[in-house]
Amino acid sequence: MIERLLKLKQMTEETIQGINDMQTLNEVKVKTLGRKGEITMLLRGLKDLGGDEKIEAGRTANEVKNSLEKLIEEKTEQIKKKELEQRLKSEKIDVTLPGLPLESGGLHPITQVTREIKEIFMGMGFTVAEGPQVETDYYNFEALNVPKDHPARDMQDTFYIDEEILLRTHTSPVQVRTMEKMAPQIPVKIIVPGKVYRKDDDATHSPMFHQIEGLVIDERITFGDLKGTLMQFAQKIFHADVRVRYRPSFFPFTEPSAEMDISCVNCQGEGCRVCSHTGWLEILGAGMVNPRVLQYGGYDPEKVTGFAFGMGIERIAMLKYGINDLRLFFDNDKRFLTQF
Ligand SMILES: [Zn+2]
Repeated sequence: MIERLLKLKQMTEETIQGINDMQTLNEVKVKTLGRKGEITMLLRGLKDLGGDEKIEAGRTANEVKNSLEKLIEEKTEQIKKKELEQRLKSEKIDVTLPGLPLESGGLHPITQVTREIKEIFMGMGFTVAEGPQVETDYYNFEALNVPKDHPARDMQDTFYIDEEILLRTHTSPVQVRTMEKMAPQIPVKIIVPGKVYRKDDDATHSPMFHQIEGLVIDERITFGDLKGTLMQFAQKIFHADVRVRYRPSFFPFTEPSAEMDISCVNCQGEGCRVCSHTGWLEILGAGMVNPRVLQYGGYDPEKVTGFAFGMGIERIAMLKYGINDLRLFFDNDKRFLTQF
């Protein structure tokens, strides 16, 4: 028995020496030391032995088992180390290769122009106000002096959620919301940038676009204040010698109302295709706040007056950059966007 154990030990040791992978090593381990392995099988014969021989054989069996276990453990370490070395060698990184280019993002032209407009007005003491895009009929129309049957509603057809809730057609509802919050405090001097929605879709209209609204309320505000403020704005956003003109217009929430034109940025007023050979470009609507709107907002029209204006940010951006199709802003084509 002892002889067979030592023989087994020697043979197994020789086998293990030649092994270079974990799978074969595991197979040998199971075959020798496993529950049905050779040593276990040999030990079953112990019961047939007697006295000293039995004790001696038992001790030898344990020694052989421990010695082989230790050898297998060492071999495992060795194989793993070799595998790691091989992997490190094959997965070598060439640190001298140039890196992958990292593309840097940029601000969308509409965001850039919005920021620029905001900065100009903030420089004149305006603060920025915001309001919900999902608006009630009351704030979007009624409180701006546009009752349910008013024809002005046709021009601002929008997306209704139900009879009373809709996507706002302009940033003007924020005028009333701000007045309600502030009345009777003066002065009110806000600009309101944001997304608005209408049921239009062509080269110059999009179902979603951006507006910026302005509202000033104080004692003795006149049309002269309106003109001075908007002249400043036009000169800063376009160029210092831009000229402006006002044409009478109609908005239910201002009285009197006007459209403001600037001298064509393309031909400086000579007349070209951009300005339809008129020399002028329409850029915004404005007017003195209608006394009824002041009342809706909680102000006494006998004590204060105000002016308001609103413009499409896409329109300003198109004129500023000479873009002729509004839809380019929303196509997300990088060839277009990287030009700004
Ligand atoms: Zn022109």
